[in-house]
Amino acid sequence: MKNSNSQKSFDYRSLVGWISEFSSRPLHDPWPVIILDDQIMRDFDEFFQLCQHTGFNYIVIWGLFVSRNWPVQLEKSIDDERRKQVQSLLDSAHKRGIKILSGLGVYSWGFEEIIQNFPNLSKGNPRAMCASESDSEKWMQKVVDFIFSQFDLDGVQMQSADQGRCNCQECQKWGNVEYHALLNHNTTGYIRSKWDNKTIVINNWGVSFATRDDIPYIQKMSKSVDAIIDYNCSAMAHRKELIKGLDCAYGTLAGVSVGPPQRWERTKWFLPATFTNVPYLKSLYNDGGRGIEQFTVALSNPCGEVTLRFMGKVISDINKSPESALRESIQECFHPVSSSVADGMAEVFQIAENGFFKVAEQNYGHVGLFYIDGGLFPGKEGDVEKYLLKMSKDSLNKYEGEIKKAFKLSEKLGYNVGNPGKWELVTKSLNTVLKDIERIKCQ
Ligand SMILES: [Zn+2]
Repeated sequence: MKNSNSQKSFDYRSLVGWISEFSSRPLHDPWPVIILDDQIMRDFDEFFQLCQHTGFNYIVIWGLFVSRNWPVQLEKSIDDERRKQVQSLLDSAHKRGIKILSGLGVYSWGFEEIIQNFPNLSKGNPRAMCASESDSEKWMQKVVDFIFSQFDLDGVQMQSADQGRCNCQECQKWGNVEYHALLNHNTTGYIRSKWDNKTIVINNWGVSFATRDDIPYIQKMSKSVDAIIDYNCSAMAHRKELIKGLDCAYGTLAGVSVGPPQRWERTKWFLPATFTNVPYLKSLYNDGGRGIEQFTVALSNPCGEVTLRFMGKVISDINKSPESALRESIQECFHPVSSSVADGMAEVFQIAENGFFKVAEQNYGHVGLFYIDGGLFPGKEGDVEKYLLKMSKDSLNKYEGEIKKAFKLSEKLGYNVGNPGKWELVTKSLNTVLKDIERIKCQ
């Protein structure tokens, strides 16, 4: 995955999400929604164009085949129409030079129905197959065979830990990282024995690399895979040492990302995450990190589109000035009629971003995903504006002040853009945020 030009670039530059998280419209069914209709197919095409233009070379898609459960007869997971849609999605990505990795649950995530039918597969965790049970490996291999023999996928992003692990007496002898290394290593070995040219990425969602003694297990996992993604950089304390010993690229999420609110109107928030992430990306690169997974967010919210364009450019050219990355992204989105209008637009984005992270002092760390809404499974309180509700009164007032500034400037610029329809969405989003703040302050 080497870059051919002389720019300093991450090698694995990926957008990541469930199908619903690429959708330009809100989806109200329980997460994760995996429908592929004409509109969502068009949404994906926009992402492919954006990736090609800005520098992302991979997209990880979760939910191509199933949401939570593989049926016992795997081929029944999709009908003919879905099969055509998935293949057409892959063709359309390949035309743009973008590689598609399917999300793949390893021994867990997707196996609950199979476990219900074959209870010997689980030894206590109803969501995870037991690593010590030989039939588990067979089921894992069946799933691998299904996805690779039937579809022109470029590879997989594997996750083994999100739903926990087996803790039976047999499996207990393995430490946490050791256990997941074993599952990933087995699955990788099987894939490589049959499909040597596929890209394999391991993502550690659910298992931490914070213990230095676990480095040998992570090294074991790195054999014959392309990248290991330590999504929240849990290995920060010994990151450089870990990277040196790996046989593959090490990567993390692209700094802090807004978790995509599946149910929200796409103009309900305006929270770019651009300049904020540059110091983190540089430090990761300088420590030898060569992989990035950027959480996707709907392009129908312009702060999402500008964020993704900006990040694609910076991870493809780590020494690029953030100012020009932002200017180019704004140019591509809104086609401003003059450079002074472009300056004004950049200012709107900067005021909104700094208003949140700096002026209102909202600290979400250097790297990770945070939910601004009620999260994937909103509880009794419903789908609330969590990011505003958790602010102190003082911070909320400060944030309101900055969003007001951005809103006024945005309105002023409204008539001087080449793409007024899209700029209107900026103004509309800022206005919605102001209304939400006002309502929360009255509660
Ligand atoms: Zn077990």
